[in-house]
Amino acid sequence: MERLFFLCPNTRRTVDVGVETDIDTLLRIRTNKVRAECPACGRVHEWTVRDAALPQATEFSLTLLARDLRHRGGSTEHGKHH
Ligand SMILES: [Zn+2]
Repeated sequence: MERLFFLCPNTRRTVDVGVETDIDTLLRIRTNKVRAECPACGRVHEWTVRDAALPQATEFSLTLLARDLRHRGGSTEHGKHH
């Protein structure tokens, strides 16, 4: 499991909001929104999962995300499958 860190827009600090996931799940939920009370400034922020920073697996996850995005970008946005 990887802990997700998000950037507090008020303090510019990386905060831990207690969300954990694995890379596989992360890729699946990367467009999900995470709402949590910010431990840095005490306000509630909303982040998108893909904006999370993973200190231990950043390079790995970014590689996966980049590959995934490239794969998706290759075909037409709205597939015309019947
Ligand atoms: Zn904050």
